[in-house]
Amino acid sequence: MLQAQLFTLYPEIFPGPLNKGLYGKALAKNLWSLNVINIRDSAKDKHKTVDDTPYGGGSGMLLKPDVLANSIDNNVKKGERIFYLSPKGKKFDQKLAQDLSKENSFSLICGHFEGVDERVLSTRNIEEISIGDYVLSGGETAALVVLDSVLRLLPGVLGNDKSASDETFENGLLEYPQYTKPQIWEEKSVPEVLLSGDHSKIKDWRLSQSEAITRVRRPDLWQKYKKD
Ligand code: SAH
Repeated sequence: MLQAQLFTLYPEIFPGPLNKGLYGKALAKNLWSLNVINIRDSAKDKHKTVDDTPYGGGSGMLLKPDVLANSIDNNVKKGERIFYLSPKGKKFDQKLAQDLSKENSFSLICGHFEGVDERVLSTRNIEEISIGDYVLSGGETAALVVLDSVLRLLPGVLGNDKSASDETFENGLLEYPQYTKPQIWEEKSVPEVLLSGDHSKIKDWRLSQSEAITRVRRPDLWQKYKKD
C-alpha cells in the first residue's frame, strides 16, 4: 500500500477530488492512504505563527524554517523521499510518477506565500519539483496533480491494469485518436481501419497516428523518441 504524506496549511482541502470515483474506492480498499499534516500544528507561539518577512526585503512572507522543520521531523520516516512543490523545481513528469508509484511512502510539502526558508530544503534533503512553468498561489493544487498522476499507476486502482500502459507519454509518444459509438456522428464516420477487426493493422495505424501527432505537437518528445 502506498502511504502519501502531505504538509499543508489547508488540510481541509484533502482528499478533495482524490476521494471520488476509482480513487475513492481505492482509498476505501486501503490501496493507498493519505496522511494530511497541518504545518500550523508545529508552530510554538501562542498566535501559531507560521510565516515571517524575508531577510533583505521584498514583498510577501516566507514559511518559517523552525516550524516547517519541526513538522517534518515529527512525521517523516527515515529514508522517505520528501518533495517541495515549487515553480523553481525540476519538472515533474511521467517518469517520476512511475518511480513514486513504486515507493512505500513519500512526502509532499505545499508552500504558501512567497515560499519557504531555503535552509529547510537543504538540511532535510528535500527535492524541489514543479508541475509546470507558471506560478500558483499555493502547492495544494500541484500536490493534487502529482498524487493524481501517481495513484492511477498503482496496481488495482484503475480496474483495468492495462489501461495506463497505452497512454500518452508511456511510450514516449502522445496517444492516438480514439472513437466510440455511434459509428457515424454529424455525418462523420470513424476511421475505416478501426472497424476492420484486423488487430495488427489497427496497431500499425495507431502507432503511425501517435507518431504524426507527436511530431507536430511536441517536437521535443519527437526528437527524443527518434534517438531511442
Ligand atoms: N516566490 C516563489 C513562488 C511562490 S508561489 C518563486 O518565485 O519561486 C507559492 C507556492 O505555490 C510555492 O511555495 C509552491 O509550493 C506553490 N507553487 C507555485 N507554483 C508552482 C508550480 N509551478 N509547481 C509546483 N508548486 C508551485
